[in-house]
Amino acid sequence: MATKPILPFLPAELIKKKRGGGTHDRAEIQFLIDGFVKGTIPEYQMSAWLMAVYFRGMSGEETAELTRAMLHSGRVLDFSPLGRPAVDKHSTGGVGDKTSLLLAPIVAAAGVPVPMIGGRGLGHTGGTLDKLESIPGFRIDLSLDAFQSQVARVGAALIGQTAEICPADKRIYALRDVTATVESLPLICASIMSKKLAEGIDGLVLDVKHGSGAFMKTVEQAEELADKLMAIGTSHGKKVIAFLTSMDQPLGRFIGNAVEVGECLAILKNEAYLGRRSELFADTRTLTLELAGAMIHLGGAAASADDGCKRADRLLAGGQAYEKFLEICHAQGGDPNRLPVPTHRYDVKSPRAGFLTALATEQIGIAAITMGAGRVKITDMIDPLAGIEIHKKIADPVAAGEILFTLYGSNDRAFAEAEHALLGATTISLQRPSVPSLITKRKVN
Ligand code: URA
Repeated sequence: MATKPILPFLPAELIKKKRGGGTHDRAEIQFLIDGFVKGTIPEYQMSAWLMAVYFRGMSGEETAELTRAMLHSGRVLDFSPLGRPAVDKHSTGGVGDKTSLLLAPIVAAAGVPVPMIGGRGLGHTGGTLDKLESIPGFRIDLSLDAFQSQVARVGAALIGQTAEICPADKRIYALRDVTATVESLPLICASIMSKKLAEGIDGLVLDVKHGSGAFMKTVEQAEELADKLMAIGTSHGKKVIAFLTSMDQPLGRFIGNAVEVGECLAILKNEAYLGRRSELFADTRTLTLELAGAMIHLGGAAASADDGCKRADRLLAGGQAYEKFLEICHAQGGDPNRLPVPTHRYDVKSPRAGFLTALATEQIGIAAITMGAGRVKITDMIDPLAGIEIHKKIADPVAAGEILFTLYGSNDRAFAEAEHALLGATTISLQRPSVPSLITKRKVN
């Protein structure tokens, strides 16, 4: 008589162990990740385990084991034949954070290879892949061979996790997004670092966000995350520079998909977008140049991050970064000249006068999602035209009846609900607050 294979562990027992605050060893973590990727552990058990991790946390060793198991759930790339250090950047997620779209072309234009594997929207934050897909024809599903050869030929390529690379993160990321298990330090660390280490990079720049629109609400939490991410990078022999940056208000002026690409094109071409002058996007530009400078430095094309920043500024101003952006888009089948323009718009006006004092940025991200810029459940389709423009930044004066936000979309179905949410997310008071600083700290390993 044939005997059934005996499972080394019962998934429910491992969930119970973590739920009770226990510590997993390498074999248990490997079993959970392997089982989930192979389909022997179903989503409901993985969801329960993720929630147990969310509440109980993981030790440094468990986090390292989780990262390792996820990293080796697929292929690990190798860019050493290029003979130059390859670098990438990863942000812990924000609202209106579109810097990846600018960094890849700027850094590649400096001669530093950028193999960028991005993510979809997560929780209330937007995702690079969803933004890229709003460019007609842009393919984020290149084979790994095509990805590697584009990095060698063009200098940069931007794709999503494939079934071959970090499949564990691809599936766990999507599950966390819809099970309220995103804001967990070990899960964030393993997700980010497994994906980035699988890219085969030599250097990594981290943009660790803090504030009302970040997963880490305080600078202290963000610094703890940065330290943990850097420690994993160091233990894998990677050079890492981490920035702590504020997400107390959305980055730039546009939140969504096509509209964020529009803001990036305006910066690359130094021209207006939807009637807004590119100077209005100064914070997006500033943060991008800082991150690009660090990437260029780690890639060996500048003596310091500050020199790299100056080089990035010249590449942007001289149009080389825009040329490189077009080259990347064309290599991946995309035509940014056909970027769709929102067909519906609606202005949200201020009920009172004063100064913009605070923005509940997470609520703004959620409003954008409910308008169709992100997914409420895994299977949802995105409306590439859905988005929000913010007209006022913190400390700006506001007159009664002045426009605070413009809502965009391919229809106006969710505008009334979004207006209500956005007004609820806005604090206007009579005392002018100080202007929050964008970059809090830079750390080098
Ligand atoms: N970005 C990721 O790739 N993973 C996370 O868990 C959070 C931000």
